[in-house]
Amino acid sequence: MNQEARSLGTESFMPADVQARLKDAFKKLPYSIPVLLFSREDRNDDANHILRQLMEALGEVSSGKVRFESFSLDHPKARELEVDRSPTLVFAPDRYRIRYLGVPLGEESASLMQILMLMGTGQSNLGEEAAKVVDRIQSPRSVRIFVSLTCPYCPQQAVNAVKAAIRNPRNVSVEIVDIQFNPDLAERYSAFSVPQAYADDVLIGQGAQSEEIFASSLEKLEPQTVFIPETDAPRVEKDLVIIGGGPAGLTAGIYAVRSGLNAAVLERNSLGGQVATTPMVENYPGVNRVAGKTLVDIMVSHALEYVDIFPREEVLDIQPGHPMQVFTSRRQFLARAVLLATGANYRRLDAPGESRFGGRGVSYCSTCDGPLFKGKNVLVVGGGNSAVTEALHLHHIGVGVTLVHRRDNLRAQEHLAKDLFAAGIQVLWSTEIKEILGKDRVREVLLMDNRTGEARKHATDGVFIAIGYEPAVELARKIGVECTPDGFIKHSNHRTNVPGVYSAGDVEGGYKQIVTATGQGAEAAMAIYEDLQHPYWEKEHRAPRA
Ligand code: NAP
Repeated sequence: MNQEARSLGTESFMPADVQARLKDAFKKLPYSIPVLLFSREDRNDDANHILRQLMEALGEVSSGKVRFESFSLDHPKARELEVDRSPTLVFAPDRYRIRYLGVPLGEESASLMQILMLMGTGQSNLGEEAAKVVDRIQSPRSVRIFVSLTCPYCPQQAVNAVKAAIRNPRNVSVEIVDIQFNPDLAERYSAFSVPQAYADDVLIGQGAQSEEIFASSLEKLEPQTVFIPETDAPRVEKDLVIIGGGPAGLTAGIYAVRSGLNAAVLERNSLGGQVATTPMVENYPGVNRVAGKTLVDIMVSHALEYVDIFPREEVLDIQPGHPMQVFTSRRQFLARAVLLATGANYRRLDAPGESRFGGRGVSYCSTCDGPLFKGKNVLVVGGGNSAVTEALHLHHIGVGVTLVHRRDNLRAQEHLAKDLFAAGIQVLWSTEIKEILGKDRVREVLLMDNRTGEARKHATDGVFIAIGYEPAVELARKIGVECTPDGFIKHSNHRTNVPGVYSAGDVEGGYKQIVTATGQGAEAAMAIYEDLQHPYWEKEHRAPRA
């Protein structure tokens, strides 16, 4: 065993201020939380040791509320609880059937902390609508959530399942499966993207879902895409509702509240937008080199000092007017202004096989899914900054990478291109993917050299698509916001054609950089502040005095 792993203490897992906050939080919990670790020492020796130390540290910080015990996989207790994988954490087995297969560190430390906190309160913390759905489940559901330690979306889906298991312990059991420690299970399910959720071996969700959609997918045993609430949603009044929690939305929140507006940020997915899954950011002033998710965490904790953030809350509809009505699956917001900072979605290649093999070898996120391909060979498609950044990331974590680009030179910045060539990553120039092939998962692609028209098959384990983004303008179009011929929101100093509706960030087009998105968020918030002080729409509609 490596000496460094042996000597880790509580301070290594959490700095003193975090320890103090956790101590406080654990003190308030009414229930203690038994946690049983099962491990086989000949496998993942260091990892088991770190996990044991982490749980002991949590036991200490929680003043014994986390009641941790460690067992060998040969112990009769393992047979009794039907545990056969190392390492496995079993939580409060007398009350629930919730286990974690692997080591919940990295992004997954968020899942671990939420599991402990929810169990300590004995409450699922599900919203009213999702709770109603979970209560309707009257037959057993055995849930498996595949996650990876580098996936910022995964804790959301893992916690959805844990909440359901706490709410309905008689019928819902949950295994959160860390794919790095259980690649055989991932293979068996052909789960090559995370998060993926199965119930009774049926795929019920790819990607992170809102808790309402998850609950509904779990009840119906098939993936759901919409959720219509049954009751009247509670009303929340705000000066400004910001839709989108990426750099533009978060910055707008800070600026709006600092200028005196009462604002809220709504985000349907994970906060930070595309930055959350960017492996490394090297051009944000003030921070030389930072993982995208770390930069997001810094931005979110800064924004939280000012603005209310509603994560995992999808806007279903907006009714413009004075006030505007913004409907989510949980609430109705009444707002004087709405800022659309909805960002952009991955552009699809539109090659045959792309949809069919989604999560089965086709991926749009190397940070999330990359670890599944360690030791395997993949293709990265694209020639821009994203494709090169993703190719480098995959290469550095031990994936065999070939870049496929449709032209004979890169669009990516020179600095990144140099790194690509220095890493020895092969590039297939002037080449297009015409079809993605396989049976249960990606096995090969049909490539075409667009200079000669020559086609050939190429064996691969995965295809990472990084060919740019499409603006997310569905809501904008629904309420009559005008777009440019390229599909971006048309605006003048962030004011759209609909009075009281504004835009900022990637949804406006232009340079799609983190620093430009934050700048646009700040500008939009200042324009909104001015307009709410002197609403131009009131002036325009005021009848001239006699
Ligand atoms: P991008 O700059 O638009 O590049 C897209 C790439 O995909 C291009 O090389 C394009 O080929 C190729 N492509 C587009 N459609 C294709 C198709 N149907 N089939 C095959 N190839 C296709 O997109 P991006 O790389 O995702 O970057 C998006 C924005 O984010 C950019 O503004 C970028 O600068 C920014 N970004 C910045 C950083 C950074 O600064 N470190 C990192 C990531 C992203 P062609 O070249 O032939 O058009």
